[in-house]
Amino acid sequence: MSQSYWQPNRYRRSAALFDKARAIIPGGVNSTARATWAGWDPHPLFIDHGTGSKVTDIDGNEYIDYLLGLGPMLLGHRPPAVTQAVVDQIERRGTVFALPAADETVLAEKIRRAVPSMERVRLCNTGTEAVLYAIRLARAYTGKTKIIRFEGMYHGFSDGIYWSKHPNPETAGPELAPRPVPQGPGLPPGVGDGLIILPWNDVHALRETLAREGDKIAAVITEPIMCNTGCILPENGYLDALRTLTDRHGVLLIFDEVITGFRIALGGAQAHYGITPDLSVFAKGLGGGFPVACMGGRADIMALVERGKVSMAGTYNANGIAVAAANAALDVLAKPGMYQRLYNVSDRLRDGLTRLIRDLRVPAHVVGLGPVFQVWFSREPIRNYREAARYADHEAFRLWWEGMLNRGVLFHPGAYENLFVSFAHTADDVDRTLAAARETLSEMLVG
Ligand code: PLP
Repeated sequence: MSQSYWQPNRYRRSAALFDKARAIIPGGVNSTARATWAGWDPHPLFIDHGTGSKVTDIDGNEYIDYLLGLGPMLLGHRPPAVTQAVVDQIERRGTVFALPAADETVLAEKIRRAVPSMERVRLCNTGTEAVLYAIRLARAYTGKTKIIRFEGMYHGFSDGIYWSKHPNPETAGPELAPRPVPQGPGLPPGVGDGLIILPWNDVHALRETLAREGDKIAAVITEPIMCNTGCILPENGYLDALRTLTDRHGVLLIFDEVITGFRIALGGAQAHYGITPDLSVFAKGLGGGFPVACMGGRADIMALVERGKVSMAGTYNANGIAVAAANAALDVLAKPGMYQRLYNVSDRLRDGLTRLIRDLRVPAHVVGLGPVFQVWFSREPIRNYREAARYADHEAFRLWWEGMLNRGVLFHPGAYENLFVSFAHTADDVDRTLAAARETLSEMLVG
C-alpha cells in the first residue's frame, strides 16, 4: 500500500507479544477474525482490559470501542449486573452438573417473551452450534436436503455451511447463480452439493430457484440484515418476499440473528421488520459477553427435538455461567427505555458520520440500523456481496481505520465487518468519535 498512518511506536508491546504468541499459537491468534490476513496487519492489538465503552491495550492506549468483541459486549465491558450474576453462580452454586436447573426454564421463558416466534427454545454455547442444529432440524422436519444460503453471509464455521462467505468472484460462478465455494481445504466436497448459493436482495433469483427446486429445499437461511459483508440492509419487501415464497414451497425460513438478536430490538430484527421465521438462532447479544446461544422456533418443528428424534447434545449446553449471564443480561435489556437510549446514541453517531461525509464530499456512505453499521468507501450503493466485491475501496477503508485508531477509536480493520454501539456508549463518546472522524477524513482527502 502506498500510504499509511500506522504508528509502530504506539504498539510496541503488542508487537512483542504477537511475536511470542506466533511461536506457539498458529497465526498468533485463536480465531480467524483476529489474524493478520483478516486485516490486523502487521499484528493485532493485545488488550489489557475493558470497562464500559472503552478498552485499553497493553501499550496503555485507550480506545472508544466499536469492535465490542465482534458483538457480544452489547452491554459494554464488564456490565455490573452480569458480572455479579456470574460471580454469584460460581461462588455459590457451581458451573456444570449435566442435570437441569430451574434457571434454564426461567431463561427460556424470557427469550420467548422477548421473541414470540421462539415457541420452544434450546440453549447451547455458540452461534455455530445453533446454526448447525437449526439446519439439521430443518432437514429432518421437511424430509428434504438442500439449503439455500446467500453469498457473503457467515453462519459459523461448521462443514455444512462454511461455504461462499467471501469467495473470489472470478471463480465463484455467475453473479445470479453462484456456485458453492468452500471456505478452504478440508471441507468435505460433497457437502457443497447440498447448498444452493444465491445473491441476496434478489427476489427474482429466489423465486426462480424455489419454483425449480422447491421440492428438494429444506430451508432458506439468512441474516435479516447482512452483517458479514459490511452492513447491507434488506430492500423494501425483500424479507416479506422471503417469507411468502418459502411458505408457498413448504421450505422453512431460518433467521440467523446471531448479530441482530437483542441488538436491533429486544425481539431482534424479526420484531423490527415484522417477519416471523420458522426457526431462529441467537448468540452474541444474549449473554452480556459470556458464551451462550440458543436455537428455537415453531413448536411443531421443535417437537422433533422433544421426542429425541433430532439430537441436540452438548456437555456445556445451559451451563451455570451461561444461564446466569443470559438471565442477568435479559433483565437489563428488558428494562423500559433501554433501546430508545441505544438508538439515540447510535443515530447520533450514524447521522453525524453521514453529515461529515457529505460536508467533506468523501466518496463513502454509512449503512446500518441502530447500533450496527458500516462505512462503505464506495460511490455506488451496495446491495449484495458481488457489488461489495466490485465497489468497496479496501485501501481507503484501511486508511480510515488507521486514522481512527491513532485517535483512540477502535473497530475492526476489515471493510466487511461492522461497527457496534453498546448500551454503555454515551453522547460524549459519539462526539469524540465524530471529532476523530472529521480529522481522519480530512487527512485522507489531503492524501
Ligand atoms: N452467524 C452469524 C450471523 C455470525 O455473525 C456468527 C459469528 O460471527 C456466527 C453465526 C457464528 O457464531 P459463533 O462465532 O458464536 O460460533
